[in-house]
Amino acid sequence: MVSFRNVTKKYGDLTVLDRLDLDVAPGEMVTIIGPSGSGKTTVLRSLMTLETIDGGVIYVDGEPLTHMEKGGKLVRANQRHLRRMRAKIGMCFQHFNLFPHMTALENCMEGPVQVLGLPKDEARERALELLGMVGMSEKSDQHPSRLSGGQQQRVAIARALAMRPSVMLFDEVTSALDPEMIGEVTNVIRSLVDQHSLTMLMVTHQMGFAREISDRVCFFYGGSIEEQGAPATIFETPEKERTQQFLSAVL
Ligand code: ATP
Repeated sequence: MVSFRNVTKKYGDLTVLDRLDLDVAPGEMVTIIGPSGSGKTTVLRSLMTLETIDGGVIYVDGEPLTHMEKGGKLVRANQRHLRRMRAKIGMCFQHFNLFPHMTALENCMEGPVQVLGLPKDEARERALELLGMVGMSEKSDQHPSRLSGGQQQRVAIARALAMRPSVMLFDEVTSALDPEMIGEVTNVIRSLVDQHSLTMLMVTHQMGFAREISDRVCFFYGGSIEEQGAPATIFETPEKERTQQFLSAVL
């Protein structure tokens, strides 16, 4: 479960998130669409604590992400709290960011062994299971440079899942892929959605995919949600003029 409450993020004079309220329920897949610069990626980066927000609070599983309660007040969290909260969130980026000197299997074992302290055998077993789930069992001993973009992205998804996150973030995961490889990655994400076990937030420019797999679509404009609703409603009968303009330009 993820909640943004009145979240503001600024770069100098530029307000990138403007008193944003956003909730993603457990097991829900929410997709953010919107024009370039509307703050979509900043939402994901804030959740990864890669950005510091200037106002408001982000909650993950009911706990403030970067703050702790002390004497009835919210104070900046210590490193221990931050590590525990970060471990709840997995992220896949447009550029897969796999460790180039490690095989697919080693990529999926590294976090569980180094960060979660899992014994190697257990981490290997879990990594092989996840590589199987994303259809990469036969390539588990290959290094990223020997894999196609679609295959690398599927390994990146398995690697994120190996950390057992409760929330998964997908940032333009198909944008860097050749068209024939998009399907294999979207199929993996679709199968995660079908399991309903993860809370998922996705940013994409692929409207067809957003429409097909999302439980809810949020149209962003100027750092907040201009309009949100079921995919069929947003794509077929959007109410706001800005949503209509955006969709008529991209569809
Ligand atoms: P796109 O669809 O083009 O990826 P977006 O909606 O994901 O856009 P963000 O990446 O969230 O947009 O960026 C929102 C705004 O913040 C943009 O105007 C961007 O130029 C600005 N911005 C992002 N990162 C920084 C930074 N580190 N310093 C200054 N401005 C930034």
